Parts: sequence; structure tokens; C-alpha cells
Amino acid sequence: MRGLDSVSIDPNALVGHAGGGTTAGAYSRAAGEHGLATGFGDAGTVGVAGIALGGGIGFLSRRDGLTVDNVLAAEVVLADGSVVTADAEHHPELFWALRGGGGNFGIVTGLTLRLRPTADVTGGMVVHEPTPERLAAAARAVLDAPDGLSAMINVLVAPPAPFLPGSLHGRPILLVLVCWSGPEADAAAALAPLRALGEPLVDDIGPRAYTDMLQGPPPSPQPLHPAMRTGFTDRLDEQWAATALDALTGARTFAAFNLRPMGGAIARVPVDATAFAHRQRAVMASVAAPTPDVTALPTAQAWADATARSLGLVGAGYVNFMSRTTSPPPTPASSSSGCGRSSGPTTRTTSSATTTTSRPPPRARPARSPAAAGAGAAGW
Ligand SMILES: Cc1cc2nc3c(=O)[nH]c(=O)nc-3n(C[C@H](O)[C@H](O)[C@H](O)COP(=O)(O)OP(=O)(O)OC[C@H]3O[C@@H](n4cnc5c(N)ncnc54)[C@H](O)[C@@H]3O)c2cc1C
Repeated sequence: MRGLDSVSIDPNALVGHAGGGTTAGAYSRAAGEHGLATGFGDAGTVGVAGIALGGGIGFLSRRDGLTVDNVLAAEVVLADGSVVTADAEHHPELFWALRGGGGNFGIVTGLTLRLRPTADVTGGMVVHEPTPERLAAAARAVLDAPDGLSAMINVLVAPPAPFLPGSLHGRPILLVLVCWSGPEADAAAALAPLRALGEPLVDDIGPRAYTDMLQGPPPSPQPLHPAMRTGFTDRLDEQWAATALDALTGARTFAAFNLRPMGGAIARVPVDATAFAHRQRAVMASVAAPTPDVTALPTAQAWADATARSLGLVGAGYVNFMSRTTSPPPTPASSSSGCGRSSGPTTRTTSSATTTTSRPPPRARPARSPAAAGAGAAGW
């Protein structure tokens, strides 16, 4: 699909068009030139179609809804070779299924997407010492915030990554990535409950271009084998948080949690409007134990399974974050081949297998964000 990488932006109609192989980064940079954006996730390297078909949760979701909520039309090649355009009026059932059902209904060769004014945002990373109280309070702070605040809350053992001070390496940290996309004058008030969590170990939050938020997880020098569970929870109290922190400190391999508070515009779309069926849940949660050592994979997967069970992350999951190791574990050669957009050193668990994605484009700012659970981190 990589050849289908067209992007066109109509700033007057607030509509963008992306070819079926366009990356979120390429589209967002083109839209950003007009001070506009369509929300995707945390990484510019993912495909617009891949993320959109599963749902698409990221830094604008509480303000604008999921990516699926901003899909206006899709051009699709069906299994019989016919080409159709699905939108609210044409092929409405297909249009419903495409928005959250994953890549099961045809090959999407183009998407028409709604754009919203989005130039600079107030965003970045804040790191705290993790406690159950802080973890629960961080989730509450985002859920109770105005819709302009979207965030990803990570708990992990700090890897020796350049964006974290050496004194934190090897210590459990609470790392919150925030994006305030409301009026700049309201940023301080919106972020105040998060700032009230205590004296941060790192505070990198500030004004920046929205496109700078799409750096995604930093690259890992070696392929990682996925061990991951995804689910949803409504109960994120201190007891839940204590269970999560205990599980993290008891893990025998690298482990991490990624929490994405939902609500806001995500919850205002009727549950049956699209195939993304989890809108009324409070928090999307993932537990991950990616490992570069294939022999450690059964241990890592057992930890992810047991931890997910103890946290009630059972049943429905987010299709774009689904990954489960099958037995026997893949050989290093087979598992690192991936089905991603291009070969490169960053690995990330996805719906089907270990996916290798390209290194993000050269960065104007220091790398800072292991945006999803464990992404890239175990390899440092
Ligand atoms: C680094 C990274 C960061 C991520 N961050 C987020 C995030 O913040 N929020 C979030 O919601 N998700 C996130 N994801 C998950 C991401 O949404 C899924 O992995 C998604 O499937 C990636 O799509 P792709 O096109 O890049 O990958 P691919 O491997 O190319 O595609 C994955 C699957 O999507 C389907 N697909 C892709 N393109 C098409 C098409 N044109 N037509 C039909 N089917 C298609 C196919 O089923 C394919 O197997 C992230 C993934 C990575 C690798």
C-alpha cells in the first residue's frame, strides 16, 4: 500500500484526503501547514488506514473523538474486485463496519477525514514517583478535565533512555504524556490537577506544534517479542492502582502499563454508531512485557495474562493493540520479520504480530515519549 501515499488538504472545507498507504505523520504534517489536524494516535509512523480502521485513540481524542469519528468516507476494494465509496449515504453498513472493525472488510485505498483547527498545543511529558494515590489521581484528573485534555498514563521501570535523567533509570516511574488542545489561556487551569500530583521528577510540558506530539515510542535497538494484553476498565481507584504497581514491581521481565482515559467526545458518540464498541468505558488499558529474549516470552506472556486478569482487563479489547503470543513462541527470525510499513529498529505490538515500524523522522526536539506500554523500552 505504500505507493498510495497521496495527501490533500482542503482548508476551506476542513476536509483531508489520505491514500490507503499514507502515514499519520505525512498527513498530519500537510494538515499542520494549514493549522489543522485530524486526530490519530501517538506516532506518525503508523498508517492512516491501519489506525483509523481499528478506532484510533490519541492526543486529540477527548476533544474530537476517535479517528473513526472523523472518517467521512472510505474508498474500498471489496473481495470481488469492485471498488466502492462507503459513507453515511452509500453502503452505510460497510461504512459502519470499517469504523472500528479493523482491516477485515476490504482494502481501503483512500480515506476522507474531518479536520479541526489545531496548531500549537500545550503538551509533553511529566514524570512522578509512582504511588497508588498518584496513579488513580492522574486518571481522575484527565477524566474530569475539559475535553481539550487528552493523555496517556504510563507506569514502567524507567529504561536507560536519553529522555530520562540517569538517576531514574531502573526505577519505577509514572510517566504521563499530556496534550492540551483547547484555548492556550485555559491550559494552566486544565493541567492544574495533574500538576497537583506532587513535585515532578521531570516536567517537559510546554507549548509545541501538535505534529511534534506524534513522535511515538523511541526506537529500540533490537526487535522485541510482544507479550501484551489490552482491555478496558471503569474502576481505576487506589486499590486497582496498588494491584497494578505490585504487579509491575513483581514482574520478572521488563513490564509496563499504558492507560488512556477516554470520555469526552469519545463518549458522546452513540455506542452503536460505529463498530468501535467501547465508548462508555472510562479507561483503555494495556499491560505489556515486550522482551528481546524469545526464551523469556512465555514468562512475559504469563505475567501479562495474570496481571490483566487481576486488574479485570478481560473480555473486550482494543483491536489495534491486540497481540497474543501463541505457543510455541516464534523464532527470532520469524517474529522479527513483522508486517509493518517498513523495516527498521522500532518494534511495537500490534493486532497480528510483532510489527516493525520505521524510525520516526529526525526530531526537532529531544526524544521523550515511550507513549504506549513498554514500547521500545525493553530494548534499551
Ligand atoms: C509505533 C506505534 C504507535 C501506535 N500508537 C497508537 C496510538 O497511539 N493509538 C492507537 O489507536 N493505535 C496505536 N498504534 C496501533 C496502530 O493503530 C495499529 O498497529 C494499526 O494497525 C497500525 O496500522 P499500520 O497501517 O501502520 O500497520 P500495518 O501493519 O500496515 O497494518 C495493520 C493492519 O491494518 C489493516 N490495514 C492497514 N492498512 C489497510 C488498508 N489500507 N486497507 C485495509 N486494511 C488495512 C490490515 O488489517 C493490516 O494487517 C500504534 C502502533 C505503532 C506501531
